[in-house]
Amino acid sequence: MPHSSAEHIELTERYAAHNYHPLPVVLESGEGCWVTDVEGRRYLDCLAGYSALNFGHCHPRLVARATEQLQKLTLTSRAFYNDEFGPFARDLAALTGKDMVLPMNTGAEAVETAIKVSRRWGYQVKGVPAGRASIITMDGNFHGRTTTIVSFSTDHVATADYGPFTPGFPRVKYGDVDAIANAVDETTVAVLFEPVQGEGGVILPPDGFLRDLRALCRERDILMVADEVQSGLGRAGTTFACDREGVTPDIYILGKALGGGLYPVSAIAADADILGVITPGSHGSTFGGNPLAAAVGREVIAMLEEGEYQQRAQVLGARLEAGLRTMVGQGVVGIRVRGLWAGVDLDPGLLSGRELCEGLLERGVLAKDTHGSTIRLAPPLVATEEEIDILLDALRDTLDEAQS
Ligand code: PMP
Repeated sequence: MPHSSAEHIELTERYAAHNYHPLPVVLESGEGCWVTDVEGRRYLDCLAGYSALNFGHCHPRLVARATEQLQKLTLTSRAFYNDEFGPFARDLAALTGKDMVLPMNTGAEAVETAIKVSRRWGYQVKGVPAGRASIITMDGNFHGRTTTIVSFSTDHVATADYGPFTPGFPRVKYGDVDAIANAVDETTVAVLFEPVQGEGGVILPPDGFLRDLRALCRERDILMVADEVQSGLGRAGTTFACDREGVTPDIYILGKALGGGLYPVSAIAADADILGVITPGSHGSTFGGNPLAAAVGREVIAMLEEGEYQQRAQVLGARLEAGLRTMVGQGVVGIRVRGLWAGVDLDPGLLSGRELCEGLLERGVLAKDTHGSTIRLAPPLVATEEEIDILLDALRDTLDEAQS
């Protein structure tokens, strides 16, 4: 059994495909916002599993519920009913205000599910020409890694040499409702978008975009499909990022934090006139809706409803934003904040996102560069004011060092 960080890194690099470029830290345990590496060093986690860890690491309530369920029943497949799934489906329908849900495991699977449902709805309910359904997507999107999903990615690294790609996904400028309106034709069944583009670098749409898109989708009888895998469940300062403009999409896509950071749980939620197109045998997943996932997901929903995490995200996000503002002109050239979620653009002449993250790592803070000179900050929503200040101090210190 290897012990040092160097040994773990060597093993990973030798025996695992190089589909990531991790920072050189080997984590062993976590509690709340803090993680500890194999050499006993503690770090403040300001990535939070790309927003899957909204409740922090190993939240006692989630661990207790999962442990209880682990000892009782973990998997049935949907060939049978289980006693956790019905209550989970009911609670998720209530949280989203939708009639019903369809459970999956990962974000990408839920996106694929939304694509299939939208196409079926298009053919069976709206009556688009057979075999020609199209879904409008956005520049700079990130919806996952399957071959269909990367077919409409604008990220060259994510798409190179993976073709042939799936047709039927025209793309327009993010946040531009006029461009979307111009792209709608008789084949259009849906618009698939992120209310905030997380992987893109916490890109915020213009104010009014969600409301205008809602109106357009209604007017043209197409589905508004919101990928809230990263933005949903409190991160953006509201239960869903679409809540900011009082908008309800036709289909919610949820994942990440739905599993409380301890188990993969994803789902889509929609009304019966849409999800009713799904019939036995037409879609599924061995693990989707399993009792363990349902138990964890249900606990997450209960915690979100009781915990006022959304308000905490706003309060902590305002503190983070105020601190980041003082760094503009001091190595930072742009910031975007929504809830407890920030994209920080660095002066590329000073240091890259990777270099900043390496500097933060040395100071005991974990964050991740998004591309080139942008980093993303998304601490757990259970963070304290003091923990936000630790992040800000580490940022300031790293930038100061780069400037000296
Ligand atoms: N949609 C969005 C908006 C995401 O941010 C992500 C993951 N970063 C996904 C989908 C894909 O989720 P997963 O990695 O669980 O497949």
